This record gives sequence, C-alpha cells and structure tokens, in this order.
Amino acid sequence: MSETTQDRRLFGRGSKSRLKGAPGLAAVVAGPTAREMIRQLRVALRETGTAELRLDWLKDDGERSRLLAWLGSQHLHGASLIATCRRREGGGFCAGDVSGQLVILQRAVAAGCSWCDLEVESLRKIPLAAVREFLSPARIMVSFHDFRRTPPGLSRFIVKWRRTIQRPTRADAVKVAALARSIADSVRLLALAGRKPNVVVMPMSEVGLPARVLALRFGSALTYAPVSQATAPGQAPLAEMKHLYRVHRLDRHTAVYGVIGDPIGHSLSPLLHNTGFVARGVNAVYVPFLVRDLRDFLAAAARLGLRGFSVTIPHKRAILRYLDDCDPLAAEIGAVNTVVIRSDGRLWGANTDYVGVLRTLEHRLPLRGSRVLLYGAGGAARAAAFALARAGAIVAICARRPERARTLARVVGGEALPRRALRSEFFDAIVNTTPVGMHPRAGVSPLEAPELNCQVVMDLIYRPLETRLLALARRRGLTAISGFEMFLAQGAAQWEIWTGQRAPETAMRRAVLRMLRVEDGRRRGAR
Ligand code: NAP
Repeated sequence: MSETTQDRRLFGRGSKSRLKGAPGLAAVVAGPTAREMIRQLRVALRETGTAELRLDWLKDDGERSRLLAWLGSQHLHGASLIATCRRREGGGFCAGDVSGQLVILQRAVAAGCSWCDLEVESLRKIPLAAVREFLSPARIMVSFHDFRRTPPGLSRFIVKWRRTIQRPTRADAVKVAALARSIADSVRLLALAGRKPNVVVMPMSEVGLPARVLALRFGSALTYAPVSQATAPGQAPLAEMKHLYRVHRLDRHTAVYGVIGDPIGHSLSPLLHNTGFVARGVNAVYVPFLVRDLRDFLAAAARLGLRGFSVTIPHKRAILRYLDDCDPLAAEIGAVNTVVIRSDGRLWGANTDYVGVLRTLEHRLPLRGSRVLLYGAGGAARAAAFALARAGAIVAICARRPERARTLARVVGGEALPRRALRSEFFDAIVNTTPVGMHPRAGVSPLEAPELNCQVVMDLIYRPLETRLLALARRRGLTAISGFEMFLAQGAAQWEIWTGQRAPETAMRRAVLRMLRVEDGRRRGAR
C-alpha cells in the first residue's frame, strides 16, 4: 500500500478529507488473533478511513505475521493505518524490548502502515532521529500515557515535542492520553489541543467520555474509538461515536448539551436528544456526564461550551442551590431536571418530569379523585406528587425512609404510609419512583406481588421497557405502564426549551423504542 496525500495531511488542521467516513475518528483494532483483527479492520474501514492496529494485543508473533502478511496483500486505498505495539512499560502488552518493538513496527510499515505510534518510554531509550530513519517512510506520533491521573506539566510536554515537528528529525504528531478523575481534568486536557495542528488529546475514564466525544470540536487531531474491544477506560464504541455523537461533524459552532447523573451509563437521553438534533438539522450534540461533584461539573460547564443540561439521579434537588433563576413550578416542586445556561453564564432551571407524568397517566385513568401510591420520595417522586395532587388525585407516599415520605406527603397534602400497609390498602394506581429494577440490575422488583393492590402499575424506569415490577403487574392482570412514555414526554419538553423548536417526537420515539426492543429481545434470548 503506498502513502497517500491523505496520510501526510491526516493530522493537518482543516484538511479536506478525501476518505469516505469520518475524518478525525480513528478506529481502534485490537484482538488476540489475526482473524479477529482482520474482521475488526474490515468493520472499521466501513465507518472511517483511519484505524489504529494494536499489534501488542495479538497473542504471539505468529498471529502478528499472519496479520501483516494479509495486510501486505491488500489494497486499502485511501486508508491511513497507525501501527502501535505498546510495550508493558508504556501500558501495553508487548513483552519485548525497544529493538523488538521497532522490528515489529518496521514490518507493519512494510505491510502498509503509514503511521507509527511510539510511547515516550521507548524514546527515552533510543533517539527519535534513529527511530525515524528505521521506520521510514512512516510518520511518527510520540505518545504519552498516564493511567493514574492527569498530571501537571502536560503543556510543557506538548511544547517540547511540537518544537521537534518543525525540524528535519521530527515527530509528526504528539498524543497525550491521561486518566481524567474529574471533569476539570478533561477540560485541562482539551485545552492542550488548543487548535494546534498535530496534537491529539485523549481523556480516559467514564468521567472523560464527554471530552472524547468533544475532542475534535476542541481541535484534537484525532479521537479514538474501539471497534469491539475497549483498549482504554471510558472509550465509547466506534458505531456510537460516529452515528450517535457524530464526532466528525462537530465544529466550533456546535452547541453542547448533556445529562448529568451518577450512574449515567443507563441513560437513553443522548439517543433521544441527538436523534432530535439530526432530524431537525440542528448543529448540536448531547453527551452523558458522570457527575459525582456538582461543583466540579458546573465549574467546567462554561469552558465546555455547554448551553444546557438534563439532571437525573441523584442531583435533581441538589442542583437548585446553584441556579440563578428557576421556573416557579420547579421551585415549588423543589426538583429540577432541566437547566438552561444563558449566554451570560447564568443558570435557569425547570421541571419537565411534571409534564411527563401527567401526559402519561391522564390517558390511562381519570386522575381527579383517584388514589395513587408513589413508592419512593426522591426528585422524580416530588414532580409526580405535585402533578397528581394538582390534577385532583389523592396522593399516598411510601419510602424506605419514612420521614422523607412524611415530608413530601405534607407538602402536597397527601398521606404517608408504612411499607407494611401496602398489603392491605387499595389504590387506583401505584407508581414506582425508585431506581430499583433499572438497567443493568433489571432482575429485581421494588415491590412484591401481594403489594400490588391496584388497577394500574406505572414504573418510572424506562430501561428495560418491561421491568420486573411490570411483569409482576401483568401476571396479576393489571394495566402496566412503562416509564418510556414519560421519558419521551419529559425529553421532548426539554428539547423544546433548549432549541425553541417543536421536538420531532416521532423520530425520537422510533429511535428509543427500537433500541429498547432490541435490548429486551437480547435479554429474553439470554434467559
Ligand atoms: P432520586 O432523586 O435519587 O430518588 C430516588 C428515590 O428512590 C429515593 O426516594 C430513594 O430513597 C429511593 N431508593 C433508591 N434506592 C432504593 C432502594 N433500594 N429501595 C427503596 N428505595 C430506594 O432519583 P430520581 O431522579 O427521582 O429517579 C428515580 C428513578 O426514576 C430513576 O430510575 C430514574 O431513571 C427514573 N426516572 C424516570 C423518568 C422518565 O422519564 N421515565 C424521569 C425521572 C426519573 P432514599 O432517599 O432513601 O435514597
């Protein structure tokens, strides 16, 4: 495979890619056998023109020879392949010394790889000029990894190696990958990219995921995504990076939105909102933030260019004290699930869970005069309690911490019930507002079958579609309502607050339902 113009320009700023797919998005191909890596590479090149081959992941030299022999026989026109054979010292699996590593990389270059990624640990043992000559004509990316933290002094590292870019014996690109323990760490890493050409920044960890999605928007030359096997913490799969987040399409003008929570991996809000942006042609992206410390997130929000965010478990009440202004209904409820960041940085909050509960339940039973039990007394329960009470329902609340149930009951003029009362009391509807039974711990129910003395059971959980609680309800012949309808209604209301346009609900519904049905099907198949 010969070197292409694209190879030379790959890391150049503003280069117009001639490759199909996704400029800047590098697929990571990593597996124990040549067969598996070939399979992954074929998938990768259907999505993007750039792939990193993790040669250190292959289980032995025989597999490496098989892969490289196959590669040498291919004509992968226009593809840019980066060969990496990370030694253990640099966080990889290659057991050999630097000379062994260089021999493998040289074979990869002969087979058609136009770039080699070499970690600084190796360059401490052999000068870059010698490496360049040995691996010629490949281009060299010098990489630094820290799997424990985002250390200070990274900009000095980048300045040092970028200086060499201008020299005849030079590095062609510099990569920094570091564990992001906080959102502040992610922002620090993104700032290093600073729109300088030939610099790659990669925050690692689930906290760092939004920054991986936003890396190209912030000027990183590449962002990485595995085809199947994650090679670093916090990576989102290739298909998600390309089709859900459209990382290669994000630019300086892309508006950033997100959802904050802990845990956050279960949330389908990114699918809902991003589907809406694509359907209406809005230049915006929506990412999940794992937030343990609200102050850490809020300090970084403006620097990430955030225009708004959804709030989920467990921050719906705590966020209130950080708002500058709030919709009066949300203030009364005492829980906020939607925040707008105004152009002057001020935060305004609203609650769309309220609308979501109402829109879902009012079609299924006449709320006025109905007796409805809420199980749980957190943020979503507060919105539900206000919505139901205002619609004329008689609200009962039961929670594992009885004082919380009593407090909420007092605010909405309802009654608090101890758990033991559920076996003898009758309700028109029971609503689960706890996360018990939520993906990935879907096999449990918050309530037992003898406690379901009602006609309608609603679960606020939408993932899975059919929770264990809803299955129990159906088995008793009761009407079972998934949290999906509420999820759609509250999400569409958020989308409209942020964009000022009508939400494309049909497209949103179709995308989320398809995903949930596939997942439910897989779960049933696994049983
Ligand atoms: P939250 O504010 O943290 O409240 C959670 C409530 O559940 C609290 O009362 C908590 O009790 C209780 N709880 C947690 N674990 C429990 C357990 N093992 N046993 C009994 N009670 C337990 O969370 P939230 O924001 O209200 O969200 C709650 C659930 O509703 C989540 O699953 C969320 O995804 C879902 N939700 C869905 C939608 C939708 O659109 N479908 C909208 C909003 C929320 P303590 O106070 O004692 O911890």
